[in-house]
Amino acid sequence: MRQLVEADLTWTGQRFEAGIQIAIGDDGRIDAVGAWGHEPTLRLVRRALLPGFINAHSHAFQRALRGQAERFPQGAGSFWTWRDAMYALADSLDPERARLVYLQAFREMRDAGITTCGEFHYLHHAGEGNDYEYDAVVLEAARAAGIRLVLLNAFYTTGGIGRPLQGAQRRFESPSVEAYWAQMDRLAARCDSPLLTLGVVAHSVRAAPLEAIAALHAEAQRRQLRFHMHVEEQRAEIDECLAKHGRRPMELLVDLLPIDGNLTAVHCTHTHPDDMARFLEAGGTVCVCPLTEANLGDGLPTLDRVHAAGARLSLGTDSNARIGFLEEMRWLEYGQRLRRQERGAFRDEAGRVAPALLHAATGGGGGALGVPAGRLEPGSWADLVAIDLDASELAGLDPDSLLEGLVFGAGDPVIWGTAVAGDWRQTGTDTSRQP
Ligand SMILES: [Zn+2]
Repeated sequence: MRQLVEADLTWTGQRFEAGIQIAIGDDGRIDAVGAWGHEPTLRLVRRALLPGFINAHSHAFQRALRGQAERFPQGAGSFWTWRDAMYALADSLDPERARLVYLQAFREMRDAGITTCGEFHYLHHAGEGNDYEYDAVVLEAARAAGIRLVLLNAFYTTGGIGRPLQGAQRRFESPSVEAYWAQMDRLAARCDSPLLTLGVVAHSVRAAPLEAIAALHAEAQRRQLRFHMHVEEQRAEIDECLAKHGRRPMELLVDLLPIDGNLTAVHCTHTHPDDMARFLEAGGTVCVCPLTEANLGDGLPTLDRVHAAGARLSLGTDSNARIGFLEEMRWLEYGQRLRRQERGAFRDEAGRVAPALLHAATGGGGGALGVPAGRLEPGSWADLVAIDLDASELAGLDPDSLLEGLVFGAGDPVIWGTAVAGDWRQTGTDTSRQP
């Protein structure tokens, strides 16, 4: 055993309890959780422990757009006008600046309690031609930040259904399915740490032909890799898909793919209830990104069925305009409150909502990314977040109200530190933080 950790309070799945000890093995996984009363090797006084948060959907380079694209001199903006700013950023980066931006984003994630990032990565090429320079940049930045990374490597080959790539989109190019897998094999060789793993992505029906989506998914299943895809974030995507294929994107996926828990559909903002029902029945999972969807004016997804289907939901910081996972949790619930004009959308049998929101931010993300984390139980990675019980935002809370207080009343200043595979880092202790 490498470490025996005990905090004042530990989240045991339904409540915070005192006297809980977590034994961490030499491999960085949790060996056992118990109340043995041994002398801990790490006693976290005035701290509470939770599983580290799992960010299931990020485009970390977009962190460089923070504070940008928030003025609208030409009139109202949209996802599409924002996308023009994102394309300009993709064209203006170079590998050195990209490295700093990725590092900044990953460090900021750890300061927000995030210990795993699913990086949905489509910005592959720094120059003309297919150099894949940014693929290595992402892996190295994650390694430097000490964050667990699932590189969700994206296939991107069309600039709209049946249309060629244009401008900055060429930096995203996967020339063919064969070339995609050749690059995946090269990346697998670079993932030489248990902190670095791979997943498969077809960017969207806009960026990948149907035959390619089916071929990528089949090979992902064969390799037992997770498969992610943007689905129906925008009505225009649905309209284009109906015009070209006669079916909505989610309808196509359900018809085309043998769906199971390996497949995560990201956003589903405008998904038809019948399509969602079929997708969930087949076992699919959903990732939503409340702060980004609000920032981009996407709309509010209907998540009643997803919640009713059980623990099928994960959260992502997506554009990283704001990295705040407690905020993502509360806005997951708040969005549904605003849509339904009632409170308690994600309530469980006991009438609580905070446990389901925390699950979306932890175990739900672990399931979506295929990472054994997000639960304080034997075999899980010892990825933890420690909360500062002396933080002013938490004053007046008791163990019974602490989770609700965290989810609905607190922000990143309450995050004292995080551990990834048992390696601790106190919040705000990295020095270089200039993109
Ligand atoms: Zn996205």
